[in-house]
Amino acid sequence: VRIADRILSVTILVISTSIVEQNVGSATTGHGTPIVEKDATMTIGPRGPVLLQDVAFIEEIAHFDRERIPERVVHAKGAGAFGYFEVTHDITKYTAATVFSAVGKKTQIAVRFSTVGGESGSADTFYTEDGIWDLVGNNTPVFFIRDPIFFPSFIHTQKRNPQTHLKDPNMFWDFHSLRPESMHQFLILFADRGIPDGYRHMNGYGSHTFKLINNEGKIHYCKFHYKTDQGIKYLDPKKADKLAGTDPDYSIKDLYNAIANGQPPSWTFYIQVMTPEQAASSKFNPFDLTKIWPHSDYPLIKVGKMVLNRNPENYFAEVEQIAFSPAHMIPGIDASPDKMLLGRLFSYGDTHRHRLGPNYLQLPVNCPFKVKNFQRDGPMAYNNQGNAPNYHPNSFGGPENDARARTLSPPFSVSGDAYRYDTGDEDNFSQPRTFFQKTLDKSAQNRLIENIVDHLSGASDFIQERCVKNFCQVDSNLGNRIAEGLKIKDRTKSNLHNLPKV
Ligand code: NDP
Repeated sequence: VRIADRILSVTILVISTSIVEQNVGSATTGHGTPIVEKDATMTIGPRGPVLLQDVAFIEEIAHFDRERIPERVVHAKGAGAFGYFEVTHDITKYTAATVFSAVGKKTQIAVRFSTVGGESGSADTFYTEDGIWDLVGNNTPVFFIRDPIFFPSFIHTQKRNPQTHLKDPNMFWDFHSLRPESMHQFLILFADRGIPDGYRHMNGYGSHTFKLINNEGKIHYCKFHYKTDQGIKYLDPKKADKLAGTDPDYSIKDLYNAIANGQPPSWTFYIQVMTPEQAASSKFNPFDLTKIWPHSDYPLIKVGKMVLNRNPENYFAEVEQIAFSPAHMIPGIDASPDKMLLGRLFSYGDTHRHRLGPNYLQLPVNCPFKVKNFQRDGPMAYNNQGNAPNYHPNSFGGPENDARARTLSPPFSVSGDAYRYDTGDEDNFSQPRTFFQKTLDKSAQNRLIENIVDHLSGASDFIQERCVKNFCQVDSNLGNRIAEGLKIKDRTKSNLHNLPKV
């Protein structure tokens, strides 16, 4: 027993020493090898697709996906509803996806809206003849980061401080000021539309760049947009704060009641398209999730309507267990080299296998109309495909390759050196500048500044000052007014130099 005790105490000592060393020295993988580049995934060429051989990234995401034990009964918040998508305009010249095959065609859909740390997101499942298509997006057209290697860190900054277990404005603003590619999303989030008045009154965006493939195998890159037919409505931050205390289920109630009272909300669905030639010569990186495609260059093309007209009968079975994944795509719709999308293709399924188990796709709400494959067994295997062959190739009538799906999956070329390209300084400010100077009117600018000052005032002085420098790069008036709101010039030890004059 004594020897065992000693071994135990020595082991603990070694672990705690290595923690201290790790925190000050080189970052390592979970198996202790130094990480070559912490701020970039490995891609083919600076804009190219992410490589599966990036084991440091796969480990980072796979670990992140398992950080939480499956959620408790009272926890993550969302609302779900069901309905249909109807095609109103022909886009078959862009895509052969069955969901868009004919004007008038209706496809069943399931939608879940969720609220996560002040940001609202939505996801839609289309139950098509070619399987399930999930469009897992946000209520903003862009996102905070453009390389998925940052995703775990980005989420951690919105969680609790590891020591105090309190929400910590320093964590949030520190990270974002060190990675100013988040600026575009920040300005949209802190402007009026950042607090939608319930789920019915906000737009939705596929946000990522996807690839559409038509019957001839021709490709176009694409962005998806949903515009609310109810009109945009947003909440004043003071009212939202009050509602958080008095009516925390406001958004869920609003959606449920509208459907129950015969007022089914709807959204008009649009795409933007870009040819591969346009993508190659574009001034901005069209696969960068922190960027929009300007409407003037890539106009919205109307496609159809999404209508939500049925509430769930059983919330847990139909909403809590619904498991979306951007990897659920159908022939005619595919991934682009958007690095964030490629990271999410792996991460969502990985999380579901952890949270709901490896057979999560057999749950009724997640189950496509037909599944024929060679996956078998595992916990809760309900549809284990009887006596059908469980290996491929086989001589006993198992499923084979699909000729149509093959035509709709043409080869694509990639080139460039595989490397970890840190994209931290890729044009972080020009689109936020357009948003601030052209999209927002004076009173919307004032409210944005007030919201930022209110939140940022909780962070340490040196972090506030770094943030102001970033805001000044968007627009000197924006930066200076935030500095005034934070009373930065009154500080004796301010290290903020050369603030542009208003
Ligand atoms: P446009 O003038 O053609 O488009 C402006 C877009 O901004 C419209 O889609 C409008 O949505 C939306 N918008 C208006 N007010 C706000 C707000 N307070 N918060 C968020 N979005 C708002 O210009 P561009 O396409 O050149 O884009 C200019 C800027 O607009 C971008 O930098 C981006 O920040 C923002 N934006 C652009 C989108 C795009 O896909 N191009 C989509 C959403 C925002 P609506 O028509 O519903 O009023």
